[in-house]
Amino acid sequence: MKPASFEYWTPTSVDEAVKVLSGLDDPGDAKVMAGGQSLMPLLNLRLSQPLHVVDLNGVDGMADIRREGDTLTVGAMCRQRAVERSAEVSAAAPLVVEALGNVGHPAIRNRGTVGGSIAHADPAAEMPAVALCLDAEMVAQGPAGGRVIPATEFFEGFLTTALTEEEVLTGIRFTADGPGSGSAFAEVARRHGDFAMAGVAVHVRLDGDTVAQARIAVSGVGLTPVRATGAESSLRGATAAEDAFAAAAAATSSALRPATDLHASGAYRTHVVGVLVRRALRTATDRARGNR
Ligand SMILES: Cc1cc2nc3c(=O)[nH]c(=O)nc-3n(C[C@H](O)[C@H](O)[C@H](O)COP(=O)(O)OP(=O)(O)OC[C@H]3O[C@@H](n4cnc5c(N)ncnc54)[C@H](O)[C@@H]3O)c2cc1C
Repeated sequence: MKPASFEYWTPTSVDEAVKVLSGLDDPGDAKVMAGGQSLMPLLNLRLSQPLHVVDLNGVDGMADIRREGDTLTVGAMCRQRAVERSAEVSAAAPLVVEALGNVGHPAIRNRGTVGGSIAHADPAAEMPAVALCLDAEMVAQGPAGGRVIPATEFFEGFLTTALTEEEVLTGIRFTADGPGSGSAFAEVARRHGDFAMAGVAVHVRLDGDTVAQARIAVSGVGLTPVRATGAESSLRGATAAEDAFAAAAAATSSALRPATDLHASGAYRTHVVGVLVRRALRTATDRARGNR
């Protein structure tokens, strides 16, 4: 199928893109296009029929990767594959690189953008869970200027974010890993490259053998990615060892009520998450020990 007809806009700056959106009678009639890897199928199947498509591919300055002190900013239009191959991202936020390797296939990542993944907010997608786990900040621009939205406030519901219809996501800010930090991403998908049944992103900071900080986010178990706050508290101050990992896995699973769908039952997803949490914690703490 082909998309329903729409007016096609090609802004060359973020200001111009925002002006196009805010100048429409109803900005809700428009869709911003990044890599098109989620939007184009929706348009072609006519599941989405916007009257306006605002293509960000000609916008200057949205695909830079910048490190300033402890802050790494990834431009929203950075292709997933470019970020996956970036030495700068690998050094500052290795969890991003590891998780991106699970997003679809290289052909999709060549085109798909990190900002598109986050703005699309598919609860089974890798990048939203990573952003939540790393306490990333979303930088948005709208008619009233720029604002920064913490990941904990960004994912509001199924494919729904805190961005307004007139706003463009311009970048994602991550805090660079420090000494004693380690992270890991683990997921279960029927085939590599499929959307996962469930995934887990873990970031830990060790003080000696003690867990000083743990952050865990889970994908594929609800309408948004979720933080496993009970498990995080259970780990804080504990010795980084199997019994603490098992308790964190149990705390994570017991807090979830994933739905059953044609891919997996809720009970299976809950079980898988527990296994993934233990596995990811083992890997993340090993990496943290090697990063002192
Ligand atoms: C076969 C296939 C398999 C896939 N498998 C996976 C997978 O395993 N895991 C995974 O995470 N993804 C997967 N994807 C989706 C892929 O990662 C997409 O690239 C991603 O979801 C959207 O990024 P995009 O740049 O293509 O955005 P687009 O498709 O262009 O846009 C997606 C949505 O985000 C909005 N948007 C995009 N950029 C911005 C912005 N800067 N500001 C405001 N709104 C914006 C658009 O308006 C649209 O609503 C798969 C896609 C395909 C086709």
